[in-house]
Amino acid sequence: MAYELVATYVTKAGMNVVVESKNGTPEARCGGCDQMYLHRDGSLKVVKKWAEQHAPVCNIK
Ligand SMILES: [Zn+2]
Repeated sequence: MAYELVATYVTKAGMNVVVESKNGTPEARCGGCDQMYLHRDGSLKVVKKWAEQHAPVCNIK
C-alpha cells in the first residue's frame, strides 16, 4: 500500500483537513465534520483545492 501524506490544512474550528494519497488516489478528510473527498482520476490538484476551500468555512469540532 502506497500511502503518502500530502498536506494538512487547519479549519476555522482549529481541526485538521488531511490530504493524502493512497495507491495513487488522492483523498481529503476533515477531522472536524468527518467529510471525505475523493478523486478517482487521481487529480491531487482538485483534492487540494477542495481542502483549501473547505478549511476556512468548516466550523465543526
Ligand atoms: Zn469539515
